Amino acid sequence: MPTKPIMITREPRGTQPSAPRSTPVWQQALAGAIRDPDTLLQRLGLAPDAIPGMQAAHQLFRTRVPESYLARMRPGDAHDPLLLQALPRGEETHEQPGFTSDPVGDHDALVAPGLVHKYHGRVLLLTTGACAIHCRYCFRREFDYADHSPARDDWNAALAYIAGRPEIHEVILSGGDPLALSDQRLARLAERLADIPQLQRLRIHTRLPVILPERVDADLLGWLGQGRLQHILVLHANHPREFAAPADQALRRLAEAGVTLLNQAVLLAGINDDIDTLAALQETGFRLGVLPYYLHQLDRTRGTAHFEVSTDRARELYRALHARLPGYLVPRLAREIPGEPGKTLLTSSPSRA
Ligand SMILES: *Cc1c(COP(=O)(O)O)cnc(C)c1O
Ligand code: SF4
Repeated sequence: MPTKPIMITREPRGTQPSAPRSTPVWQQALAGAIRDPDTLLQRLGLAPDAIPGMQAAHQLFRTRVPESYLARMRPGDAHDPLLLQALPRGEETHEQPGFTSDPVGDHDALVAPGLVHKYHGRVLLLTTGACAIHCRYCFRREFDYADHSPARDDWNAALAYIAGRPEIHEVILSGGDPLALSDQRLARLAERLADIPQLQRLRIHTRLPVILPERVDADLLGWLGQGRLQHILVLHANHPREFAAPADQALRRLAEAGVTLLNQAVLLAGINDDIDTLAALQETGFRLGVLPYYLHQLDRTRGTAHFEVSTDRARELYRALHARLPGYLVPRLAREIPGEPGKTLLTSSPSRA
């Protein structure tokens, strides 16, 4: 893991320019994202009535797909694995036993507004509910951000909680997608975290560098490439084609800036539940400086049952990956079980996990 230089020049607080800045290119791209499923189908040359129940599912969780991601989908293919991650379908409106609104128990682990503390030594900050894409399998698709996030940028209670616990060495920014926030706000938060002496690492879980590569601009690299804390980005890419241009260049720039890049994928039926796709995902990522982290079993969120892959099949795929790839390219197969002290690994023998 690359170590980061100590930042020796830092603008004193309160001297940031307050003049209005022009809207960054990435924010314009985000504002221009496709927000209705008919347009999405039409742009891919697919019939608007191809997907039964699409509008009802869209009403439950609104469609959002940026142009740059659309450009990596295959026109005319209703089963394109990138499209399937973003296209609403009728199955989402079907109730399935065991599929609930908060399958990972985050509500119960909130210790301050926006702060989740479940695992030893690390805490999770829910920074924003916004995302560049609305993934249909999302485990937070029903999470009530308005109710559980602090008022705009009021991190005082969360930071005080962290500061009072010497065993916390890592803060994880989560969401939504933390990189949906402006660099001014993120840089300010990173600076405040760096002032907490026992913290060593700032980890950001994000899909933005992959989904909206415009996000990786000079402003982001500016604060991410410096500071006292080690910066880790955990990308969420599920299919090797998500790493295609222009995401490849964005990831290279992040790696060059000294940011450690990891990838966490969700195992998704019809999208990446085959050995060739999973192997290509790890190898394509590694070529760009991204190491595999987790291969996650789906969290059982209401409306996502059609994406689930059985535990037996997941283990079979894991074993096949292990047989095919060098050890460092094999992600840990895991699932989140509420109340457990960490993610539960599914890689031991079937009788034990
Ligand atoms: C997944 C998760 C983490 C991070 O766990 P790692 O195994 O360190 O990646 C931390 N807190 C919560 C609440 C999580 O769900
Ligand atoms: S980017 Fe992450 S948080 Fe946002 S919709 Fe997709 S899976 Fe959910």
